[in-house]
Amino acid sequence: MRPVLKSGLSRTWRDQETLRFGTLPDRAQLVGRADERFRAFLALLDGERDAAAVATAAGELGLDRECVEQTLGSLAESGLLEDAGAVERALAALPAGRRELLEPDLASLSLLHTGPGQGAGALARRVGRRIEVRGAGRVGAALASTLAAAGVGTVEVVDQGRVAARDCAPGGLAVQEIGRSRATAAREAVARAAGPGTAGREAGGPDLVVFAPRDGSGAYAGSADAARELMRAGVPHLYVGVVEHLGVVGPLVLPGASACGGCFGLSRTEQDAGWPRLLAQLAGEGPGRAREPACDGALAATVAGLAALHALLLLDGERPPSVDGWCEVSAVDGMVRRLRLTPHLECGCFWG
Ligand SMILES: [Zn+2]
Repeated sequence: MRPVLKSGLSRTWRDQETLRFGTLPDRAQLVGRADERFRAFLALLDGERDAAAVATAAGELGLDRECVEQTLGSLAESGLLEDAGAVERALAALPAGRRELLEPDLASLSLLHTGPGQGAGALARRVGRRIEVRGAGRVGAALASTLAAAGVGTVEVVDQGRVAARDCAPGGLAVQEIGRSRATAAREAVARAAGPGTAGREAGGPDLVVFAPRDGSGAYAGSADAARELMRAGVPHLYVGVVEHLGVVGPLVLPGASACGGCFGLSRTEQDAGWPRLLAQLAGEGPGRAREPACDGALAATVAGLAALHALLLLDGERPPSVDGWCEVSAVDGMVRRLRLTPHLECGCFWG
């Protein structure tokens, strides 16, 4: 290990002897008794020296080996220490043109995964993942581009037809794409967002499928058969979209381990007996669909960003709040709310 202080944390003086790492009050770490010798020791943590070389150089400052080990251990435990070697290895696995693009993301991962080298490990895992986004509208194309830009190795967008004006959004399909094949335009948007070179794997099934239909109500109505297939295959899937004035992220379904789209439908039906009938009239090119589905651009961008964050949390081994629930973003008041969803006894997704 080649210790270095984490680059993503601010470093300020609280008073003459107390160093503060980090700006956020609930995460900041204070290091007291930071005298001149301690400062000289910190300067040795430049990511060039390994731990043994740090100990040797620290000896010249009058710090014995045990003290150095203790200090490094305590800095690592406080989440302040990174392993420059692990960071280099993670970046070296990426095409050259993408390394600089992903440095801020890696600095962020290094704050989330606190041990030295753990953030680099999380980035390396992202590069090996595959996500399939079904739908290349305002939400889907921007979401897919965001995931690719975050380092997910393979992001595929599945859709049909040609790009319409209403599909275009910042971060997704550009106005210049109108009239082109949606699938091709989305693939190119993802490639642009990812940066030069190719990374990740090409083979194997997806680690996550995202239902992001261009008409957001399709997330409720149009995905039941596809979701059943994914349930059988054990593939995690996430529902996202903008429905009228509401942005929806979730549920994110972990087959057999969290509430599914069927559970959601059954819960809805308990609250509103007319729900199945409504869905039947929205499904496919159903007659009940909105003539011009509403989709606030800022809301679509928010949903794409929030959904990408949840997807990345899942890939990074966390349990996002859209599992056993869903998040709603309202264009009425700009608030984000999280609603709970419990597995429904009649659904059967937990049986067997
Ligand atoms: Zn279920």
